[in-house]
This record gives sequence, C-alpha cells and structure tokens, in this order.
Amino acid sequence: MNQVQRVTVLMYHRVGNAENDWEARYAITSQNFAAHMRRLAKSGYQAIHIDALVDWLESGIPLPAKAFLLTFDDGFRGVRDHALPVLEELGWPCTVFLVSDLIGAEDEWTRASNPSGTTYPLLNAEEIHDMQGRGVSFHSHTRSHASLPTLDDAQLADQLQNSRQALAALLNQKVDYIAYPFGHLDARVETATRAAGYRAAFSTQPGFNRRDVNRFRIRRLDVFGTDTAAMLLRKIMLGDNDGSFGHAIRYYLNRITRHLPGWKE
Ligand SMILES: [Zn+2]
Repeated sequence: MNQVQRVTVLMYHRVGNAENDWEARYAITSQNFAAHMRRLAKSGYQAIHIDALVDWLESGIPLPAKAFLLTFDDGFRGVRDHALPVLEELGWPCTVFLVSDLIGAEDEWTRASNPSGTTYPLLNAEEIHDMQGRGVSFHSHTRSHASLPTLDDAQLADQLQNSRQALAALLNQKVDYIAYPFGHLDARVETATRAAGYRAAFSTQPGFNRRDVNRFRIRRLDVFGTDTAAMLLRKIMLGDNDGSFGHAIRYYLNRITRHLPGWKE
C-alpha cells in the first residue's frame, strides 16, 4: 500500500469580510472559503482529525492518501457561522485554537496592528459546545494570545498550563495541542510546552510535515483571504506560502535543471 509521506496543515484565521488590506490577509470570505474546500475535495484531498495526524507522527498509523489537517487560529465566531456549514456538507473535521481568557470576547491583541482598530467577536461557551457536538476539536492558543518568547518563566508556564486547564474544564475533554500565538517560539518555549503536558504544538513555519518533524514545531501553511482556490492548491503542492503561478514555475524549473547533466549547485 502506498503510504502517505507528508501531510499539509492549513491555517486559517477569521471567516468573514475584510474591511482593509491588513484584514484581507487574515480574513477569508465565506464564498472563497467554500470555494477552497470544494476545490480540495474535488482534487481528492481529505481533511483528517487532529488526533489522526499526531497518531501518524508518533506511531505511523496510516492516513488516507491526500490527507490534510484544517486549523483555525483564535476562535472567531465566523468559523461557526460561515465555515462549519460547508465542512458539515463535506463531512470534514477541523480544529480551532482558542484563547482561553477571551472566550466570548473580541480579538483585543489585533487592535494595535489593524489600521482601522476594529476587533471581531470570538466564540462564546455556548457556541463552542454546539460546535463540539458537530465534530469540531478545540485546543489551546494560550490564555491571552501572548508572544511567548517575551515572557518570563512563570508567565510562560501560566499561559501554557492555565489555558490548558481552563479549556479542559470548559470542554470537558483533554487539551493535547497548542498553536503558538503569532507563531513565535524558541527553544525555551518548546521545552516549557513539553513540560506543560501537551502532546504536540503547531508553528507558523511553512512546509510539509514528514514523520520525523519535531512534534512541537509542526509546520502549517498560512492561507490568505486573497488566495484563490488555484493558489491554495499550488501552495499545497509546493509546501510554501507563496502560491503564485510564477513561484510554481520557478520551483519546477529548478527541479528540472537540477537533474540536467552538468548542473552544479
Ligand atoms: Zn492567533
């Protein structure tokens, strides 16, 4: 049997309309999100459960061909309103990383970076429980969306451990995974994350995940709101955040020229 060699993890943020260019990177319209998912399904891709990815990494438990993991950072309400219907239609699971101190609040951490200063609603407890019943997995994105390498040891442990405990209480389930806010991490953060009892952690480093990937630095492709479905497929083929046509051409030309006689690195 043909074993899966590499698995892509996709990272989305908010599903809804973007009001400016800054938001367009992090927000995808419901129409474009549906187009992404339908194109993936048509191309034979299949979303898997987060536990299945980590079981494969840890123990080699086989995955379907063209398996991928779908993740949403931050826990925006738009995921429930706009993404869940198309995922239910396809029968696809997804994972949402929640900021445990901001359940039912707004994404306060973006206020300084979004030029308009607008913030958006995050899922509340009732919505989270409803989504749990519909097959969505929830895990940690820390307590307050802190940049973890900037914290002292006590603050770091607090963000990692207390978000895990608070979410486990809210969900009545084990919280085994975390996504590092802003993708910020270093060796100390990785060590503390392991010590806090997580089973795996997700970075924003682009690329494919082979079985030998560091489970506390799982790679994810950043899907932008401006990506067309064709660009998304190219990103997945290239394992890179640049899904432009030109980038794909350069990638394949490079691969071809490397195999020509007389080619020197
Ligand atoms: Zn985030």
